[in-house]
Amino acid sequence: MHRQHEREPLAAIVTYLAPGRTFERLLKEDTLAEIKQVVRIKLDLADDVPIHLAQQRGERVIDLEDEEDFEAFCVAARRSGSMDVRVIVLSSTNTAKYRPTQRVTSGINYWLYDPHTHRWKYGATTWTADQRCDQINSQCGTHFQVVVHMPSNNIFATERFAHALLRAWNLQIVPVRCHGCEHVHRELFNLGVHSEATVRNATQFMSLAIASGVL
Ligand SMILES: [Zn+2]
Repeated sequence: MHRQHEREPLAAIVTYLAPGRTFERLLKEDTLAEIKQVVRIKLDLADDVPIHLAQQRGERVIDLEDEEDFEAFCVAARRSGSMDVRVIVLSSTNTAKYRPTQRVTSGINYWLYDPHTHRWKYGATTWTADQRCDQINSQCGTHFQVVVHMPSNNIFATERFAHALLRAWNLQIVPVRCHGCEHVHRELFNLGVHSEATVRNATQFMSLAIASGVL
């Protein structure tokens, strides 16, 4: 008897087929919501952009819509060792390219700082800044801490404003390839020695713009 047949593979590789890009991940998530978040981070989509996933097995496309679908998916994935998943982004303004959504969404704009790398990360979320920070750190292997979080009724307008402001101040935005999730992050900033003051300054401008109804 060949004993190797009794052993089940411990992990499965999932190939995500997204618009414009394909990437692979080990299946480590326990819920459908978690794998959707993995996909959103990889595609640089905001947390609330709806996406639809479906297993592709040969000619067949199998729904991946609820947690029961996900359970069956996990069993099948571990049995075969690999699985293809189609990703459909359900928003006309969001494609695989980096582009903040144009819809009006209230939430939190935040600045995070990583004392290990001295990098600043700016972003928008519909979660709390702490939740988003924890999620980024677990995904990217970073040590970000929340420095500034400010509520906005239009987080993506605030985000565009922040990017415009930093551009106007000639603060070079260098896209950085992340060692943790291998994606090129464009929302990271190396702001130099006066970084904290720059962030406080930018935040003041943004608060003013929000308060005066510009954003
Ligand atoms: Zn990353």
